[in-house]
Amino acid sequence: MTNNKEISFNDTSVAFSSKSNKELKRSYALFAVMDKNLIVKLGTFFVNAALKLKLPVKNLIKNNLFNHFCGGESIEDSEKTIEELAEYNIGTILDYAVEGENTEAAFDHTADEIIRTIHRAKNDPNIPFCVFKPTGMASIDPLEKVQLGQPLSKEEKVEFENIRIRWTRVCGESYKNGVKIFIDSEDSYIQDPIDRLTYELMEKYNKEEKIVWNTYQMYRVGMLDHLEAALKRAEERNYFFGAKLVRGAYMEKERERAAEMGYPDPIQPNKPATDQAYDDALKFCIENKDRVSVCSGSHNENSNYLLTELMSEAGMKNNDPRVYFAQLYGMSDHISFNLANAGYNVVKYVPYGPVGSVVPYLLRRAEENTSIKGQSSREFLLIKKEIKRRRSQH
Ligand SMILES: Cc1cc2nc3c(=O)[nH]c(=O)nc-3n(C[C@H](O)[C@H](O)[C@H](O)COP(=O)(O)OP(=O)(O)OC[C@H]3O[C@@H](n4cnc5c(N)ncnc54)[C@H](O)[C@@H]3O)c2cc1C
Repeated sequence: MTNNKEISFNDTSVAFSSKSNKELKRSYALFAVMDKNLIVKLGTFFVNAALKLKLPVKNLIKNNLFNHFCGGESIEDSEKTIEELAEYNIGTILDYAVEGENTEAAFDHTADEIIRTIHRAKNDPNIPFCVFKPTGMASIDPLEKVQLGQPLSKEEKVEFENIRIRWTRVCGESYKNGVKIFIDSEDSYIQDPIDRLTYELMEKYNKEEKIVWNTYQMYRVGMLDHLEAALKRAEERNYFFGAKLVRGAYMEKERERAAEMGYPDPIQPNKPATDQAYDDALKFCIENKDRVSVCSGSHNENSNYLLTELMSEAGMKNNDPRVYFAQLYGMSDHISFNLANAGYNVVKYVPYGPVGSVVPYLLRRAEENTSIKGQSSREFLLIKKEIKRRRSQH
């Protein structure tokens, strides 16, 4: 098995090995546009307005952002992507990325769709996990009230019970089919009841293996203590523990809400503090590898390197089934493809769903890839480097 010292995230020939010259040029054109802050801001405004006015922008989005960042509009559409990634030993996580639906009927529909992903993943080593986003199947109001210790109305009690029913149905289906499932994390003001419910499900379904995995946002103050307490609970109640670590995606929103409502900012004071917490959490998981499995959901090169080092120090093989590295489809191929090439377990979230419904997801990706203080995104620089490398070979 390859030693981690041989990994280089700078090797663009491996990173873009799945892309033809034509595909690479298409990515270049897309990232060149996203590089411009003003265009992304105007584009976001235009797309939102056009969708509201029902203008025909679907094809425009589909041929650009959608094709780069999504597998397709359905599971069937995503088959080609699953196959392509599998060719390079990268697993797929089918991520039903529809957002903004908030009726009980829509939540039931999402539960049915997640169950379809579980059935597709069953017995397929190329789809090692499924995933769901809590608010895709849960009404926010009762969660918020439960967290605040406020009484629920009759209707909210029903909505809250429906969350438990849906999640139990989905995780039960995962258990029956032997498919591991991530529960994503979202806003801190609804996370406590989500965690409690998740731990109930872990206790129910993780007795023999890690089926249900919780997500820990390390940008939140005190998250390492929370992770430690979660492991203690798993030990006391004798179930296996799966942790997906992320830094956290909702920093601005969290800070704005805390300032507006006058409670302490739940986010670490700065980026180095978040980085430290993330890396400490990786260490904690590897130190407790006998009970914990970890999936590092990150595009941060240092954290990805660190995890390979921690594994090597702990005498673990690169493909130890207790450790996964995860990135988003269409991003950080230099990390995913180089890690997979060195024999690590790598997975990509492959979002799918009707074009109009995944727009919020796509606009977040566009914003992430604009230049910061005039500095182009790492992604754009790597694509440029690979185009130059290929040209120099002719
Ligand atoms: C496979 C996968 C699954 C994911 N699942 C989830 C999920 O369930 N829930 C979720 O919330 N996010 C999720 N994310 C997104 C993730 O939380 C991050 O937003 C994203 O990956 C960027 O962080 P990074 O580790 O890749 O790298 P980096 O680019 O090194 O870190 C950027 C992150 O650092 C933190 N940060 C930036 N500036 C500051 C600051 N001033 N102070 C404190 N912290 C700061 C923020 O969290 C920011 O997103 C997922 C990402 C991946 C790849």
